Amino acid sequence: MTAVNKVAIAGAGAVGLAAAIQLAKAGVEVDVFEAKPELTALGSGISLQGNALRVFDALGAWDDIRAAGFAFEGLNLRAPGPGAPIVAELPDVKTGGPDYPAAMGMPRPALAEILLDHAQRAGANVRFGAKVTGFAETADAAVEVSVNDEPAGVYDLLIGADGLNSTVRDALGVDTKPEPNGMGIWRAFVSRPAEVQRTELYYGGPVYIAGYTPTGEGTMYAFLVEKAQDRFGVSDEEATRIMLEESRAYDGPWNAIRADLEKGAHANYTWFTKHIVEAPWNRGRVVIIGDAAHSCPPTIAQGAAQGLEDALVLTELLTTRDAVDQELWDAFHARRLPRAKAVVEASVQLAQWQIDGDRDADAGGLIFGIAQQMAQPA
Ligand SMILES: Cc1cc2nc3c(=O)[nH]c(=O)nc-3n(C[C@H](O)[C@H](O)[C@H](O)COP(=O)(O)OP(=O)(O)OC[C@H]3O[C@@H](n4cnc5c(N)ncnc54)[C@H](O)[C@@H]3O)c2cc1C
Repeated sequence: MTAVNKVAIAGAGAVGLAAAIQLAKAGVEVDVFEAKPELTALGSGISLQGNALRVFDALGAWDDIRAAGFAFEGLNLRAPGPGAPIVAELPDVKTGGPDYPAAMGMPRPALAEILLDHAQRAGANVRFGAKVTGFAETADAAVEVSVNDEPAGVYDLLIGADGLNSTVRDALGVDTKPEPNGMGIWRAFVSRPAEVQRTELYYGGPVYIAGYTPTGEGTMYAFLVEKAQDRFGVSDEEATRIMLEESRAYDGPWNAIRADLEKGAHANYTWFTKHIVEAPWNRGRVVIIGDAAHSCPPTIAQGAAQGLEDALVLTELLTTRDAVDQELWDAFHARRLPRAKAVVEASVQLAQWQIDGDRDADAGGLIFGIAQQMAQPA
């Protein structure tokens, strides 16, 4: 017995696909509508903490994820300047428990392909070029969903996993929206020098943070976090020039990164955002999860992990109860809101300390406290 028989999901990002996998595995009919014409996952690489890996295991996707990514433990801090000396080697908390590595880096397109494959194999119907444009609840507790301005079907539930600029969130009348936090990030997918075995961060120098994360045998993504600027119209050549310029203060593996940039590695730019929608995340039979409900600067790399946990908890409730009622929503919000909010607030605080140049702040203590909290299952 499940609380739903037929569900529509807006968005085929990691969060929408995770929800689709769990529902389809439980025998629920699932239609996933994705606005983009095909699966693309920009942004080069992603860092997935143990608690995200634990979710992939629950989905049945862990073996594929493990094979496609680069597992590592700990974090190195290096200093700017000649030789890029390692100034600290910090241990990680295993937020997924002892069965999973502390973290794993992987190319975003590989993650997207694995989750799409699992969703389709579980029986979910995924439609691309299909933007959810509206919905209306019917008198008999169902939701009529419109896609590309045409009626697309009647469902027991609509899950809005449609990301930062969520159409579903706006249509629900939720006013809380992502706001810039004042930081922008350059990212490039590059080759991995053999000495890079874990994430390494450089504090100090011309940008707030310079760093890189291994994503595979021969690959990693490199990033520079700067004061947010209007960089969106810059040409590819200009983007490369900016990344080269801003990284000159960093030695060590940055020399290899610059060599890749000079050979044409693509530099991608975006701003960090922050928001957390207060409870409830649902109105009747429509609910938002993932980046639609919360976002934060990736200062502790927990954004996707939180969205994946939203998907896991929501689908667990939907597949183990027999009604979509207030008790279900109360249980969902009690398990998800405090946890997602703690991550957003800590991530925003860490970023703000960087912006303020506050060197006395206890960043390590805050990160450790959140990691301890995430080590408890969602
Ligand atoms: C610079 C940066 C670095 C980050 N690094 C990390 C990290 O290292 N680790 C981590 O855990 N998190 C990280 N995050 C956060 C992470 O990327 C997000 O939390 C996660 O990707 C959100 O997934 P999602 O499925 O909710 O949203 P998305 O991935 O945005 O997916 C939403 C999907 O919905 C589609 N869509 C939109 N509107 C509609 C509509 N109306 N109808 C149908 N489809 C629609 C979109 O096309 C999109 O495919 C980072 C974020 C940023 C900005």
